[in-house]
Amino acid sequence: MNLHEYQGKEILASFGVRIQRGIVAQNPEEAVAAAKQLTEETGTGWHVIKAQVHAGGRGKGGGVKLAKNLKEVEEIAGNIIGMDLVTPQTSKEGKRVHQVLVAEDVYYPGDSETSEFYMSVLLDRSKGKNMIMYSTEGGMDIEEVADKTPHLIFHEEIDPATGLLPFQARRIAFNLGLSGTAFKEMTKFVTALYKAYEASDSSLFEINPVLKTSDDKIMAVDAKVSIDDNALYRHKDYEAMRDLREEDPIEVEAKEAGLNFVNLDGNVGCMVNGAGLAMATMDLIKMAGGEPANFLDVGGTADAKRVEIAFRMILKDPNVKAILVNIFGGIVRCDRVAQGIVDAYKNMGDSIKVPIIVRLQGTNADIAKELIDNSGLAVQSAIEFKEAADKVQEVLK
Ligand code: GDP
Ligand code: MN
Repeated sequence: MNLHEYQGKEILASFGVRIQRGIVAQNPEEAVAAAKQLTEETGTGWHVIKAQVHAGGRGKGGGVKLAKNLKEVEEIAGNIIGMDLVTPQTSKEGKRVHQVLVAEDVYYPGDSETSEFYMSVLLDRSKGKNMIMYSTEGGMDIEEVADKTPHLIFHEEIDPATGLLPFQARRIAFNLGLSGTAFKEMTKFVTALYKAYEASDSSLFEINPVLKTSDDKIMAVDAKVSIDDNALYRHKDYEAMRDLREEDPIEVEAKEAGLNFVNLDGNVGCMVNGAGLAMATMDLIKMAGGEPANFLDVGGTADAKRVEIAFRMILKDPNVKAILVNIFGGIVRCDRVAQGIVDAYKNMGDSIKVPIIVRLQGTNADIAKELIDNSGLAVQSAIEFKEAADKVQEVLK
């Protein structure tokens, strides 16, 4: 689950990570009130107004602006709230901005003593370890840094059994070229950051930039936080931070129906039981010259109701030219699934306009094939994998 910057910062702060202070606002009036409050609390006269959407690169897209007085706070907030923010990480339609973060300005003009670093904490699955990735080149595209100057990106592997060791935190501060107070502040920052990552069951923290101020404070100016969905049951307070407006509506609906659905941009919809089979089926579609339009795992209970919801979900995508159903009947018998498909198809009447190829293999596969072939519906059945692939290819022609 991805969070907004302001929510990510809230979590960081709760673990003692220093952050650029800010208050979220839903409209220009709230933004002005937030700015006044920040001025009282921090003494800042200038504020940055930051669009809160689940996408990076907001600065480049015009979603981060400096306001030098309350009038500008009001104006800028008014311009940003309601806009469709286009960044290198959004679609070309952009993302609608519903709220802004009004933050204290922590950059002082003409100040050569400030530096922007990059830092992320993530899981390295291949090594079975956590990793802190960091760089002296913060603030800008880390992808570009990785591309052009890879030697400026450092990695620190952390064994989850020991956690981050003090010498590792010091090595990070050293590699970032810090000394004195800033060095100490950085080791504190990294230690708190790692603790926050672990305790919040996050799968990703990306802090870009981490700022060193001219008075040697180290703070998170931005925060991209992803919480591991599988751990949300033990973080009810984080779960409440979910902003459904930021998520794909089809995927939200799928989740409510208990389906594992990921929207993709191909032309062949697929409905499969089991994640492994889903991956194999996507390969099959590619081999047949198509591109998968989605990943959809209907799970163990492919009854008529779920099959119908799954069909509806796939059909919402106008790019879908064919649907491939690939079900292995182990615990759930193929004939029951076939009946589910036939019932769903009948229920949906005319709304299915694309060819459907059904491959059922496993318990009672023969009966299932018969059921489909005799249903009088425009559904083609197959038992062998290859047969199904050929039929997809035919249909795409
Ligand atoms: P992103 O573009 O979505 O990654 O959003 P960031 O939160 O990283 O902000 C983008 C850029 O805005 C940063 O790289 C900074 O250069 C700038 N910025 C952020 N906070 C401040 C601030 O307090 N003062 C000034 N002057 N610039 C800021
Ligand atoms: Mn950033």
